[in-house]
Amino acid sequence: MRRWNGWGLESIDVEPKPATEAFLRGALGPGRSMQDATFVMTAEGLADSRLSSHTLVDRDPRIRLLHARGQSFPDWVDLRSGRVETAPDGVAQPSNRAELAELLSFAAQAGAHVIPYGGGTSVVGHISPNRGDTPVLTVALGHLTELTELDEESRLATFGAGIRGPALEAELRARGYTLGHFPQSFEHSTLGGWIATRSSGQQSLRYGRIEDLFVGGHLETPSGSLDLPCLPASAAGPDLRQFVLGSEGRLGIISDATVRVSRLPEAEHFRAYFVPSWTSGLRLVRELAQARMPLSMVRLSNATETRTQLELAGHPRATALLRGYLQLRGQGDERCMLMLGFTGGAREVRFLERQVAWEVLAAGGVAGPRAIADAWRRGRFRNAYLRNSLWSRGYGIDTVETAVPWSRVTSTMNHIEAAAKASLGQNDERSLVFTHISHVYPAGSSVYSTFVFRLAADPDATLARWRRLKQTVSQAIVLCGGTISHQHGVGADHRAYLPAEKGKLGIHALQSMLASFDPDGRMNPGKLC
Ligand SMILES: Cc1cc2nc3c(=O)[nH]c(=O)nc-3n(C[C@H](O)[C@H](O)[C@H](O)COP(=O)(O)OP(=O)(O)OC[C@H]3O[C@@H](n4cnc5c(N)ncnc54)[C@H](O)[C@@H]3O)c2cc1C
Repeated sequence: MRRWNGWGLESIDVEPKPATEAFLRGALGPGRSMQDATFVMTAEGLADSRLSSHTLVDRDPRIRLLHARGQSFPDWVDLRSGRVETAPDGVAQPSNRAELAELLSFAAQAGAHVIPYGGGTSVVGHISPNRGDTPVLTVALGHLTELTELDEESRLATFGAGIRGPALEAELRARGYTLGHFPQSFEHSTLGGWIATRSSGQQSLRYGRIEDLFVGGHLETPSGSLDLPCLPASAAGPDLRQFVLGSEGRLGIISDATVRVSRLPEAEHFRAYFVPSWTSGLRLVRELAQARMPLSMVRLSNATETRTQLELAGHPRATALLRGYLQLRGQGDERCMLMLGFTGGAREVRFLERQVAWEVLAAGGVAGPRAIADAWRRGRFRNAYLRNSLWSRGYGIDTVETAVPWSRVTSTMNHIEAAAKASLGQNDERSLVFTHISHVYPAGSSVYSTFVFRLAADPDATLARWRRLKQTVSQAIVLCGGTISHQHGVGADHRAYLPAEKGKLGIHALQSMLASFDPDGRMNPGKLC
């Protein structure tokens, strides 16, 4: 069963090692844990449903609570404190397109807003209902999960949009294929959600972002059905897929989607290296990206993230040995960890590894122990569970991410980190702030910063800390000319910053486009723009 007020399955706990806890206590001070509300009491506290009955709509408070929030920091505060002031008035789980259309017409008759719900893993407030008098119907896509067609000749697969990562990969792998889309939320996020948020997976360097993989599909909108034909390329005017990518449930409901698939690779390795400094590491990854080296993943941690990750791994003796070894190889405290992914044919991977090893050496880099990359691979989806155990010990974690041209990567990182430290440092509180880049392009890179800080004494104070932090770092991103999101989307939390990126005319054009599919503004209002 999914946790109702945290990440992932109830059956999985990832506990910090004693050394990890000691490190956090030393870095931030003792955590202040909050008393969690119970599921039953929180469900009982929901306001009565304002929707009339319908055979496809469940108005049980328990199911409404399970679909009330996603995974953003404020979502967690609401759920953990039991203060869920807005929840859907009903949840429907349609099994086909006809039921989707029926639900949209029921919502129109009831004057209700509609929130499409994939896996509920949004981290920017995409699926939380707004306050107000309008009833809300959440449409959860969990029954639309079938592989309906695999065109092996064209390497195209069509799935129901509600299929989650593991089920989608299992269907493809059984036939020798992969989509290659692995966001850290892979185990619980869905194909429709990836498309609606313009998601990016950990191996986007090889397989592409979701916009490179999404070829066509079908949507039900308040104005009717939209079919996006699967064409290898087209010069027939603007590409309507771009309306759907990043539409965040504002335009309609994606019922099924066709994606490009690849043959399963023969070989795949991840390797960890250490480079002497951020500057040398950044130059190296830029050159690798611009030479279009066929790597599947690049992840360069800054010096603080490198130190923090090694400490958080909770193996102090092994970390001390590694530090000693790297010092002997001339690397001091400014060293940065670089993780690379090699995926492809067995010979190609062997050749690439040798070639890249030379490049790393030339940049003053050193290969790290295999155990580091193995631990990353094993924990690539599991580390998110640490958020649960750290929260119960009184520590909160949040992240922001942007993308900028190479020439502004370092200054943007510095501005984001300085803004976060200034915001979190009020009242003499300490924080851990660190950054990596993990999606690289010839013209630039993503910048992904993580903040670890103590929860405050009560939910209001915790939320106030987070609001200050979010505002300060988002303003820093805007000032640096970065996008307000490289991969998580806009939702409610980034909406105020979108006009800086799109401009007045751009926002007007987006709103007009949405209005032609949803003239009454029924679809997920308050998100995106
Ligand atoms: C621990 C963790 C790690 C994460 N790692 C990554 C990462 O590596 N890369 C990344 O890109 N993101 C990541 N995310 C963010 C999140 O997983 C993505 O935004 C994901 O694409 C959301 O998919 P979902 O199915 O959960 O959508 P939901 O959260 O259910 O919905 C997100 C938005 O999409 C809309 N939507 C969903 N399904 C449909 C549909 N069928 N039709 C129309 N609209 C729809 C919703 O209305 C909503 O606006 C992470 C989140 C967490 C919690």
